[in-house]
Amino acid sequence: MHCYDCHSLEGTATPVLATCVHCGAGLCAAHANATPHSVHRVTGTGTALQPTAARRILCTTCHKAQSHQLS
Ligand SMILES: [Zn+2]
Ligand SMILES: [Zn+2]
Repeated sequence: MHCYDCHSLEGTATPVLATCVHCGAGLCAAHANATPHSVHRVTGTGTALQPTAARRILCTTCHKAQSHQLS
């Protein structure tokens, strides 16, 4: 399997390292956006250690769409 974003954006075939949880597209390291499942924006000294935050891998498109929704 090859990275969907590399293929659609650049026409190149890059081996897949992860999969977008939202749309299921295969992603290379450059296009995989790993985000914590529960987003707590920590400002300041950053002393708040989160217990285990689940990880979500999103493609660039889904990552943009989600951050757009949240803001
Ligand atoms: Zn890629
Ligand atoms: Zn996606």
